Amino acid sequence: MSHSTDRIRVHDRMFRPYISQHEIDEMTSRIAASINAAFAGEELTVLVILKGAILFASDLIRKISVPVSIEFTRASSYGNGMTHSGTTRIDGLTGDIAGRNVMIIEDIVDSGTTLRELVKHISGLEPKSITITALLSKPEVHKDSITIDYVGREIAPDFVVGYGMDYAGYGRQLDAIWVVCDDETT
Ligand code: 5GP
Repeated sequence: MSHSTDRIRVHDRMFRPYISQHEIDEMTSRIAASINAAFAGEELTVLVILKGAILFASDLIRKISVPVSIEFTRASSYGNGMTHSGTTRIDGLTGDIAGRNVMIIEDIVDSGTTLRELVKHISGLEPKSITITALLSKPEVHKDSITIDYVGREIAPDFVVGYGMDYAGYGRQLDAIWVVCDDETT
């Protein structure tokens, strides 16, 4: 990853600043406040979707005041590129979520296919409730009608990296979010 003034290279593409650390912090605080109000007196099991949601989830759960347990699962991702592979594989969910308030934590919702498949899978495990929290959503490209209970911000259908989200396996450790800009003529 090489930095120039306000552009970075991640693998073979250029990215420009998009969402600052400060704005991310405000989004997680706002979402956590809503969750704390909605689940007062209840317990939560957060289901973190690997790998992209790990930074968001770790910041969010530190702001949640109701008792929280943590589970992880893996869903198919973009592989090495910027387009969806078309299939969604869900694996690695080992914890018992029957009777629990399950909150799925996702980094970004694109077509909505990952979430639809995940909700279908989780529903079969007889949780008490299922809610969905996503840091970002691209409503213009949602294929499936999906209700996201808590969303940080809706964005245009551009490819982003950072704060857990990768491009070709790189860029997850960036603490802000960057958007692809290598078509730019600046
Ligand atoms: P969906 O199933 O909603 O089409 O895709 C959701 C998944 O695609 C996300 O969990 C994430 O892994 C990946 N994804 C969607 N949009 C982006 C993006 O702009 N950047 C990155 N890095 N991943 C994305």
